[in-house]
Amino acid sequence: MAKKVSKKHTIKPKCAAKTASKTKAVKYVYSWGGGKADGNGTMKALLGGKGANLAEMDRIGLPVPAGYTVTTEVCTSYYDNNRNYPAGLDSQVKHGIHKIEKVMGTKFGDAKGFPLLVAVRSGARDSMPGMMDTILNLGLNDETVIALETATGNPRFAWDCYRRFIQMYGDVVMGVQKLPSEDHDPFELVIEHAKKDLLGDVDAEDTQFTADDLKEVITRMKKLVKSRTGQDFPSDPWEQLDGALSAVFGSWMNDRAIVYRRKYNIPAEWGTAVNVQAMVFGNTGEESGSGVSFTRDPATGEKVFYGEFLMNAQGEDVVAGVRTPYPVIQLGKLQPASFKELQRICKVLEKHFRDMQDFEFTIQEGKVFMLQTRNGKRTGVAAVRIACEMVKERLINWKTAVTRVPAEQLEQVLAPIFDTSAVKNAKQIASGLPAGPGAASGQIYFNAERAVEAADKGQRVLLVRVETSPEDLRGMIAAEGILTARGGVSSHAALVARQMGKICVCGAAELQINYETRKLKVGKKTYKEGDFLSIDGTAGTVYDGQVATAPSEVVQGLIKNNKAAQKSGTYKNYVQLMGWCKKVTRMSVRTNADTPEQTTQAIAFGAEGIGLTRTEHMFFEGDRIDAMREMILAENLKDREKALKKLLPFQRKDFYGIFKALKGFPATIRFLDPPLHEFLPHTKEQQLDLAHKLEIPVEKIINRVHELHEFNPMLGFRGCRLGIMYPEITRMQARAVLEAAADAEKRGIKTKPEIMIPLVGFKRELDLQVAIVHEVAAEVIKRKKLRKLNYQVGTMIEVPRGALTADEIAKTAQFFSFGTNDLTQTCLGMSRDDSGSFLGAYQESDIMAKNPFASIDQTGVGQLIEIAIAKGRATNPDIKLGICGEHGGDPESVRFCHKAGLAYVSCSPYRVPVARLAAAQAALEDEA
Ligand code: ADP
Ligand code: MG
Ligand code: MG
Repeated sequence: MAKKVSKKHTIKPKCAAKTASKTKAVKYVYSWGGGKADGNGTMKALLGGKGANLAEMDRIGLPVPAGYTVTTEVCTSYYDNNRNYPAGLDSQVKHGIHKIEKVMGTKFGDAKGFPLLVAVRSGARDSMPGMMDTILNLGLNDETVIALETATGNPRFAWDCYRRFIQMYGDVVMGVQKLPSEDHDPFELVIEHAKKDLLGDVDAEDTQFTADDLKEVITRMKKLVKSRTGQDFPSDPWEQLDGALSAVFGSWMNDRAIVYRRKYNIPAEWGTAVNVQAMVFGNTGEESGSGVSFTRDPATGEKVFYGEFLMNAQGEDVVAGVRTPYPVIQLGKLQPASFKELQRICKVLEKHFRDMQDFEFTIQEGKVFMLQTRNGKRTGVAAVRIACEMVKERLINWKTAVTRVPAEQLEQVLAPIFDTSAVKNAKQIASGLPAGPGAASGQIYFNAERAVEAADKGQRVLLVRVETSPEDLRGMIAAEGILTARGGVSSHAALVARQMGKICVCGAAELQINYETRKLKVGKKTYKEGDFLSIDGTAGTVYDGQVATAPSEVVQGLIKNNKAAQKSGTYKNYVQLMGWCKKVTRMSVRTNADTPEQTTQAIAFGAEGIGLTRTEHMFFEGDRIDAMREMILAENLKDREKALKKLLPFQRKDFYGIFKALKGFPATIRFLDPPLHEFLPHTKEQQLDLAHKLEIPVEKIINRVHELHEFNPMLGFRGCRLGIMYPEITRMQARAVLEAAADAEKRGIKTKPEIMIPLVGFKRELDLQVAIVHEVAAEVIKRKKLRKLNYQVGTMIEVPRGALTADEIAKTAQFFSFGTNDLTQTCLGMSRDDSGSFLGAYQESDIMAKNPFASIDQTGVGQLIEIAIAKGRATNPDIKLGICGEHGGDPESVRFCHKAGLAYVSCSPYRVPVARLAAAQAALEDEA
């Protein structure tokens, strides 16, 4: 069968199936084994992460069983061509098997000697935990199993392999799975029943089955397959291999994989590779085993060899939670030589890959084999710690360290922890593995669907499961925290927690969960769905009821200047990382803040000014709203000015406080923006109340509400349109800002107010407003006897017309700040507050990859920004450019802003660290 593949004419995957090309055969299959690999670790796009790293480990002399990778191009072409494989693949696959046979000295389908068995393993470019399914022990049938039995003299082992194979293949390839109406996997049920019938104990371990028991289990499983599918279990190893390949490629388009890709923005075109690899056996007896390990603790980042293993087991057992695995440290006692070998491998791996590794191994009769390695997923806390410590160990430099912490994850080091005194009074009911740091309190749900429903209703939810599986993903996303009764660091729950930054405690064995009755028993106490529990994912503890939380050590250290918190490792590492960021960042990060407290917080987080102060909040507070209403109800200028006069001292005081908190940093202050009707009361009762207070007839209020009613307030009487109609409002606000600045300057506080006129689409709008500000400024300077005031006036670019006529507007504006919320609404013609009903469907239909209100629509809105920048600079080369609006805290949008050449981004105080890290990473990307 092993033809000379390279001379055969094949079809290039990108060409249409008809146009056979005469070029050299496309290589679809990359082999490795015995230290010789076709591929290497840099080829992840083509070979997938798993395949590339298997080749790389083989190259650097680590013990890896021989195998080959079918490339991702085959997957892409398979889907491009209506689920047909490219010509020539078949013979390359066969050739690949023959190469494995050569290295291993065994034969695929051999019914006489030791048969070659293979694992068929998916492997996308980025690891997609739990999304794709693996088939082990492929090549077994009623004859080869006897051959295996004879060759090893170990019947139990041989039949155990066969049982596993039928189970996995039946599930993954033949689709015998749990039906929506069922609570248990049908194969697991067969095993459970067999334990009862054959071993007389449902709770017996599966290792207790004898070879004869296993034969019976196999008969039952084959029957199950037949009854569910109407088909016989395939016995031809080549047919088995074919089926497995199609199943792996097919799983690229299963629901779970699609949901996952959508969440992590992985393009469907990437495709998955398939790895076919010689089996090594962890289930030959007590001298063998399988495990999953990390070169450092992925939850805390501590530098310890970390992980778990099971003796007499194949790898899936460790992950699937069939038996509870042991901490890898215990292997040191059981098999000191293997343990030492693994420690050596840890060092080799970290030195070679220069990152924390997550790897899988199998021990076959005392010999260690490596089955996988990849950069380990870690929590935000661990990411920061590992990055800092690897710099100290000289494994990486500080610039690399900055790129190692996903910006989004940094928020985790700011996540609340439980309040120390509240914890003292809390009742601990169970403990498990600390798998996702942080504190979470919530109402418990035992099923993903119900958890999602409850979360949609606004409840804080803890998803509580015996163990989680990929079907639970939606529930896990919706939950504040995840709690499982079974499973260790490599369980699905722990994996997802690391990846999504979920607070998680897993393997809390005291929990007895009953899905049928929807109850949870711990000791004598029973909890039902909807009851509250609290979990501490840093310590691994579970508490009764709700427990109060406190700010993280970083927050306490920075904002409260708490000395104890400042001594914590998390705090120190955070400060270190931010110091490095500062060295490379070009763009500064400002904050959106309306109060001195928010400002102080943001400055502590490293914000260099305010990018947006919304002054309307200042009108709403306390009694001010009454003065504001009086102003709106006034029938003439004189009355309006009288009401505004009452507001002036409040605003001035607010601004003064903000200037003081800013310590000389600039503040962009936006003038009144929302529609006036938002300030008036709408219920009859409130209207009567106001009428009484202002001593006016209630009809007057009702009429005014009517007058101000708008069909489409988003596009109505708002933004600078208010100031155009009522210049006295602008005048009052300018006076409040500039007088506060004058007062602050007199007390030695430096100020840099930047007055921002909102919603400008015409140059003339801005001109009229700017004139008022300058007029007030001249008057304040004169009255306060100052030499000058350091203020600027600019505008918010937030309607397309403003962006398109930016060259004209920039002749007046000293700065532009992109109001990307409104710019997105007006550019897309889509109201943010009404988009909820269709945005989900839009994302699912791949119309938009992301919610445009969370992450800038770079191709649409981004273009308006780029046009405005180019046009603005054309007439005003020194114009200052920034962005305000929620997008300023989104790492991808930050990267876009950096590329577009903005001077700063602005976001809410708690997003400042994320934005700073993202800005530093964008700058480093530029360097590279
Ligand atoms: P996943 O991507 O879900 O981790 P893998 O392809 O890594 O799936 O396979 C899961 C488990 O199967 C591995 O952890 C390993 O223990 C076992 N396995 C995979 N390949 C082999 C092999 N060649 N020999 C023995 N066990 C294997
Ligand atoms: Mg794996
Ligand atoms: Mg706006």
